[in-house]
Amino acid sequence: MNEVELLKLIKKISLESFSYPFNGKAKINYRFKTTGGRYHLKDHHIEINAHFLKKEYRKDLIGIIKHELCHYYLHTHQMGYKHQNRDFKILLKQVGGSRYAPDIGLAKKIKYTYQCINCHKLYYRIRRIDLKKYVCGKCHHKLILLK
Ligand SMILES: [Zn+2]
Ligand SMILES: [Zn+2]
Repeated sequence: MNEVELLKLIKKISLESFSYPFNGKAKINYRFKTTGGRYHLKDHHIEINAHFLKKEYRKDLIGIIKHELCHYYLHTHQMGYKHQNRDFKILLKQVGGSRYAPDIGLAKKIKYTYQCINCHKLYYRIRRIDLKKYVCGKCHHKLILLK
């Protein structure tokens, strides 16, 4: 599945499950490890983990797309679009989106867990990363190795 086909699928699910058109873009992410997808608030694009584009993960893929579309729908309707918001929880349940990225064995490959010293976001990596070079993608503070 390429990005054009992925976008088509996202648009289709958006109309079918949300009765609302998706006007953002779709991107395939080849670096996501435990993340299934991500919705970007700034330009409304949705990123999907390349692992889930294989045929055998179609059910998981649809669950991930629905999850990201919940963010999109609620965000564009000025409603609670964050995971902890009531609106999000209710809508996610309604459309049957996935709560977490489905485990397809990626977790087993992860050897290193890093955490941002400031915002405490966790980063999972298969290989060691250079802590002098890499900082938190969210707040640009330093990372520490947890295990
Ligand atoms: Zn989410
Ligand atoms: Zn941070």
